[in-house]
Amino acid sequence: MSDCEILLNLMQSPKDLFISVIVPCYNEEQVIEHTYQRIVKTLQGFPARGYELIFINDGSKDNTLSSLKRLAALDSNVKVLAFSRNFGHQPAVSAGIEMCEGDVAIIIDADLQDPPELFPEMIKIHLEENANVVYAVRKERKGESLFKLFTAKLFYRLINNLSDVKLPVDTGDFRLIDRMVIDTFKKLPEKNKYIRGLISWIGYKQVPVYYVREERFAGETKYPLSKMMKFATTSLLYFSKKPLKLAMTMGFLSIVVGLFLAAWVITGIIFRPNTIVSGWASSVIAIIFFGGVQLLTIGVMGEYLGNIFDEIKNRPEYIIHEKINF
Ligand code: UDP
Ligand code: MG
Repeated sequence: MSDCEILLNLMQSPKDLFISVIVPCYNEEQVIEHTYQRIVKTLQGFPARGYELIFINDGSKDNTLSSLKRLAALDSNVKVLAFSRNFGHQPAVSAGIEMCEGDVAIIIDADLQDPPELFPEMIKIHLEENANVVYAVRKERKGESLFKLFTAKLFYRLINNLSDVKLPVDTGDFRLIDRMVIDTFKKLPEKNKYIRGLISWIGYKQVPVYYVREERFAGETKYPLSKMMKFATTSLLYFSKKPLKLAMTMGFLSIVVGLFLAAWVITGIIFRPNTIVSGWASSVIAIIFFGGVQLLTIGVMGEYLGNIFDEIKNRPEYIIHEKINF
């Protein structure tokens, strides 16, 4: 280790750190107390300057909010942001990042699929390697359906092929970000945020840490297929213009094919009058096929247009109904 690095380590010891933990919660009454216990247990054994636990209640329909209020009354390190309705996982995390005061913030799901016991390792990497982002990579995912595993795999591969920034494969939002990244993130103007993509896009020094993703502690996944699809489209459309280019390439190809067919038919009428058979099947197939291509292309354009529409309306990403212990 060089002198300079030793000096840096002396300057930045874990004792100087104020740690924020950001936990988005949607209908998590069955796990929330347990999650709180496990996070606190990890943090109390860690020599930091202090910590805050920011729970974002994303319009839960069960008793999550009252459990959170109880925790906040007992422990002033617990801070609660309650949304006016369900805005989604990404806006919840985004609110946490905007409100946190830590030198570092750790984003973690409420369902204990990501182990809080990994925090010290993440902080160690942050300090020793001067990493601005320490992102957790899933080595293994326990207790998730084959369908979920398959779609998740497909999604990360697809997005990496199409997107303009490289996104680390098999990572969720479970990660540590430091003040520099937090402040940069807060300046990003877009409303519809795909957080892991944006953090990747921000850059600085990003280092992976590997872990085994556990089964959900209790309750059910809040990401049904429809939410997964929406998530996938946002992340694709916000990070790539390739679908537009693909639509153009398809349009170009069909024009070429159409021209060849036309040439073949015209030359047929002139030079091979007896070989041209009046076939309706081929016309119908061509109409349906290219009709489909056109609709798809319009659909892709519509998605981009819709996203622009959402952004220019300039509505807030979320509405906070209640703040506790802030
Ligand atoms: N979540 C949220 N709002 C939503 C959906 C989910 O705040 O609309 C939270 C949820 O409580 C959990 C995290 O986001 O802490 C991840 O959700 P989940 O565990 O259901 O997703 P999965 O792990 O199945 O992908
Ligand atoms: Mg989960």
